[in-house]
Amino acid sequence: PCSPTIRHIIHEGTEQLARSGVDAPRLSAEVLVAHYLGLDRLAILIDQDRELDQDQAEMIAGLLRRRAAGEPVAYITGIKEFCGLSFQVDPRVLIPRPETELIVEMVKDTFGPGRLTTLADVCTGSGALGIALATQFPEFCGVLTDVSCQALHLARINAVRHGVASRLACVCTDVMAGLRMESMDCIVANPPYIPGEMLDRISREVRCFEPAIALDGGPCGLKISTKLLHQASWVLKPGGWLFMEIEEGQFQPLLREMQVSADVWQSVALTRDYQHLERVVAAHKMCGSSTECGRSETQQT
Ligand code: GLN
Repeated sequence: PCSPTIRHIIHEGTEQLARSGVDAPRLSAEVLVAHYLGLDRLAILIDQDRELDQDQAEMIAGLLRRRAAGEPVAYITGIKEFCGLSFQVDPRVLIPRPETELIVEMVKDTFGPGRLTTLADVCTGSGALGIALATQFPEFCGVLTDVSCQALHLARINAVRHGVASRLACVCTDVMAGLRMESMDCIVANPPYIPGEMLDRISREVRCFEPAIALDGGPCGLKISTKLLHQASWVLKPGGWLFMEIEEGQFQPLLREMQVSADVWQSVALTRDYQHLERVVAAHKMCGSSTECGRSETQQT
């Protein structure tokens, strides 16, 4: 049989994926072909007339079949980009989402250079949030926590990959159990927040392939988020900040929860994502009398 060109394989692959009803069939086909050939997407588009041999074509067909069965591209390639960094991912962890990058931007806007010395990324999964921030703030030491030791193992690999492992301790624990009181300038988190009762109604790609433990937020999706809020209220230093990802409809119940302990939080704000959906809660802890708010001196280590 004649050797298929890249163009031909992408064309056929796109048709196959479109028939299977997966999202972005053409993009998926291009990314998978490029991944197999070890090239980026632009390179294969420039090189579309190149002929591949039968072995190569068969290997690519195997990747396309996995995608056609609904497996997310990131699990097939083993890589997902977050904040311009490439993270290793597999079914032990949720695939980092672009909207979660909002939290990284908000931390950068809140803490000037040298102002962030301690940070916890709670429910870290692949480690994306804590690691992206560690690369942006070369001065802080932090903690990545996850209740899944398997997820944490991958977070560790990603910390090493980005050269920040010596500044990030990985702790396998439930939310923040075991972290010291008033030890953190900043807590970031993308906890599981899908309401348990909605889990069988989310998209098949997420439901069948991503880990339920990273998605299932229990009743109303607020079980972990509520626990996280309470623990953050004592793990944060006076004047510290919490940035937590939520979904539509969760801000009001969490705000009510925080108003119960009105002496803890100085301000609580909602940020919406680019689809105008509720996405991040930012909460500023009251400054203690001993700390001048937002002006605590950074320690050089
Ligand atoms: N944003 C994810 C989704 O759409 C859920 C992430 C989470 O539960 N933290 O499926």
